[in-house]
Amino acid sequence: MSYVDDVYAKVVAKNPAEPEFHQAVKEFLETVRPVIDKHEEEYRKVALLERLTEPERQIRFRVPWVDDKGQVQVNTGYRVQFNSAIGPYKGGLRFHPSVYFGIIKFLGFEQIFKNSLTGLPIGGGKGGSDFDPKGKSDREVMAFCQSFMTELYRHIGKDTDVPAGDIGVGGREIGFLYGQYKRITGLYEGVLTGKGLSYGGSLARTEATGYGLIYFTQELMKINGIDVAGKTAVVSGAGNVAIYAIQKAQELGMKVLTCSDSTGWVYDPDGIDVKALKEIKEVNRARLTEYKKYRPNSEYHEGRGVWTIKADFAFPCATQNELNLDDAKTLVANGVTAVCEGANMPTTLDATNYLKEHGVIFGPAKAANAGGVATSALEMSQNSERLSWTFEEVDAKLKQIMINIVHNIDAAAKEYGKAGDYAAGANIAGFKKVADAMMSQGIV
Ligand code: GLU
Repeated sequence: MSYVDDVYAKVVAKNPAEPEFHQAVKEFLETVRPVIDKHEEEYRKVALLERLTEPERQIRFRVPWVDDKGQVQVNTGYRVQFNSAIGPYKGGLRFHPSVYFGIIKFLGFEQIFKNSLTGLPIGGGKGGSDFDPKGKSDREVMAFCQSFMTELYRHIGKDTDVPAGDIGVGGREIGFLYGQYKRITGLYEGVLTGKGLSYGGSLARTEATGYGLIYFTQELMKINGIDVAGKTAVVSGAGNVAIYAIQKAQELGMKVLTCSDSTGWVYDPDGIDVKALKEIKEVNRARLTEYKKYRPNSEYHEGRGVWTIKADFAFPCATQNELNLDDAKTLVANGVTAVCEGANMPTTLDATNYLKEHGVIFGPAKAANAGGVATSALEMSQNSERLSWTFEEVDAKLKQIMINIVHNIDAAAKEYGKAGDYAAGANIAGFKKVADAMMSQGIV
């Protein structure tokens, strides 16, 4: 059995019932095969891939808290410190009922290579809880966050592990988590990113993932001879990534026709109204059913359906495995030019392969959505030097990072005879730096 197949079989056997983690490892291993094959003997001897797929540390803890009725609730907290070869563990916290080790490990594994691609010194980690912030009062969210941090604080620090947001964790949650960390440790340090501007946050961090996705797409299209202005796009999601992707796409002259949340989706033939979307989602924390009140010409549909609308670009910005093989077939039949991933692993493996086989330009999440974590690393730099940069400075750095990522993954794909396969290019370029650091640091 080849080394790659051998390691994949071991990962499945050692981590049973974690299909999302298996999927992330499989997608990675299949595309880095040419690099591994070249160094097979050397890597096998030092068990490089076995070490890479085994987190350095996995923490699971009880999170008890009291709800507004006085009832005690118990959730589970997780932090997976996956790989620190190139820097302190870095990655978000996800609060969602679907969270378990399989989700956190897939996210943490992808984070290793994403963070490597940013060119900044950050290792890979991820955490979260099965807590659902939806429908909870601010006091309940605070009680949960304080209890969560009361255990997590002992495992994190500005030079060891720096969490941030992800699904269900935004500015409000980061504020509560930060307050509790400071209260327990007495340290005013950059232990979390995505902080509010009044207490050490970075300008442009809120916008960074969505803006980065569009800067990435613009550059990827440029090297393929395509101008993004005047094109149409379909977006899924209505959270932080989707909102700022829509905003930047429209600023660059694209018309975004759709967005969605967990219960339904909106089709707006005149282009999504970002101001309305922000008010519904960021201020009122409400459902997309409200969108029609702002835009009577739009349509609201229950369920899923954004991929049925014909457009030049598709940006999945909601969650994992939200774009399946049937969706890929519909997109191809409608003549889609490119699919660039704003969410983490939103496209199933068979859908990704179908898109690639049918000539669709595919921008993988690790590269396309790296702008969020890259700007988190810029927030860490600002915290270390106790200075704040202007919006323009951070945004210019973000843009340059996304441009560099496009060129790096393009070059890596070409070097291994996979020109145009940007998923392979992203995995190869991300892996090479981490592998080099791990090989230099001995058996740890
Ligand atoms: N959760 C984001 C991601 O998937 C951001 C992580 C961070 O800023 O540390 O990359």
